[in-house]
Amino acid sequence: MKTKNMKIGCHLSISKGYAHMGKEALKIDANTFQFFSRNPRGGQAKEINPADSEELLKIMKENDFAKILAHAPYTLNACSKDPSIRNFAKNVLADDLERMDTYFPGNLYNFHPGSHTGQGVEKGIEQIVEALNDVLKPDMKTTVLLETMSGKGSEIGRSFEEIAEIIGKTELKDNLGVCLDTCHIYSAGYDIINEPDEVLDEFDNIIGLKRLHAIHLNDSMTPFNSNKDRHEKIGYGTIGLKAIVDFINNKRIKFLPFYLETPNEVPGFAKEIKCLRKEFL
Ligand code: FE
Ligand code: FE
Ligand code: ZN
Repeated sequence: MKTKNMKIGCHLSISKGYAHMGKEALKIDANTFQFFSRNPRGGQAKEINPADSEELLKIMKENDFAKILAHAPYTLNACSKDPSIRNFAKNVLADDLERMDTYFPGNLYNFHPGSHTGQGVEKGIEQIVEALNDVLKPDMKTTVLLETMSGKGSEIGRSFEEIAEIIGKTELKDNLGVCLDTCHIYSAGYDIINEPDEVLDEFDNIIGLKRLHAIHLNDSMTPFNSNKDRHEKIGYGTIGLKAIVDFINNKRIKFLPFYLETPNEVPGFAKEIKCLRKEFL
């Protein structure tokens, strides 16, 4: 039943084009989805066929879709100690944002802040800010999201403070926001099982809930505060179904779009969407 109008979708493969993802979302009762902006290994993005993008926009409009979320390649690292990797990150960000603005204006683009690879958190944050100041434009129509990370290795974005510092130091922050990943924050030591409201209070005090635009909804394979990044199917991990159901029904976030990134193929996502829609109040 879509009457309660939960905004939920999952990560879909872009290999058959944009409209195909829209149709696939419809088939599994999703009303949004996430996709990689380009090959996860980076490299040249495939040209967008305007007929394909227009067909997706039509599907989205006719079916009252929430914003779709383009995810930058995992290899993108705006704060690597290697200047050529940093430069590559800037080029990919600029190119992806240009494509989103052209073909899918008004939607969302998410990236991992990056790993400082030994340079230290402060240097890393400085370089992420530099990249953002380079690529964000005043008239941009895409909302750019920093993802909350689990803190594996030298990852930046493991705490709300680090994300807030990046946003605080970026010049054009009107179109800058956050995507909260439930697996990542639980792994980073935010106890969304026992203290979900305290976690959201903390987010609000440090970053501001008005910056929160999207939720990556995942269970976790690893224990609380483990700083690992291993997604699990909904209800089969250390977070568990009850905490996840409570979380999606929390008044402060229930109107946001939820994107599943659980280890599933499309039929598995369909099952999770069905289950979560049933639990959505
Ligand atoms: Fe991610
Ligand atoms: Fe995620
Ligand atoms: Zn992850």
